[in-house]
Formats: sequence, structure tokens, C-alpha cells
Amino acid sequence: MIPCDLCALDCGSQPFTLDTPGGTLNFCCAGCRGIYEMLNEINSPPADQAQNAPNSTERKTP
Ligand SMILES: [Zn+2]
Repeated sequence: MIPCDLCALDCGSQPFTLDTPGGTLNFCCAGCRGIYEMLNEINSPPADQAQNAPNSTERKTP
């Protein structure tokens, strides 16, 4: 059997997997995987990085 990496319960035949820098982890349910992600802050980077702010050139009157 495959033990859950969070609660050590049996993951069953189709464990919930999570790819981490240290390897692939197995969880018994989506809840355990979500908690592990939250605890370890494993998040995909946010896609909405609006860093292309319009460079408004202000005309400086002399
Ligand atoms: Zn579990």
C-alpha cells in the first residue's frame, strides 16, 4: 500500500499525487493534498502579473 504523506493512511489504488522539488508525494484524498500544499506553500505562480504598466511620459514644462 502507499501511505499518505500527510496522515499516513492508505492511499488506495489511485493516490492523489503532488509534484514537489523533493519528489512526487502521495495523498489519500484531495483534502490532504490541499493541506500539504498550504503548509508548504506549494503554489503555481500567479498568472496575472500586470507589470507592464503604461509608461506615461510626463511633459515637464520649463
Ligand atoms: Zn491523508
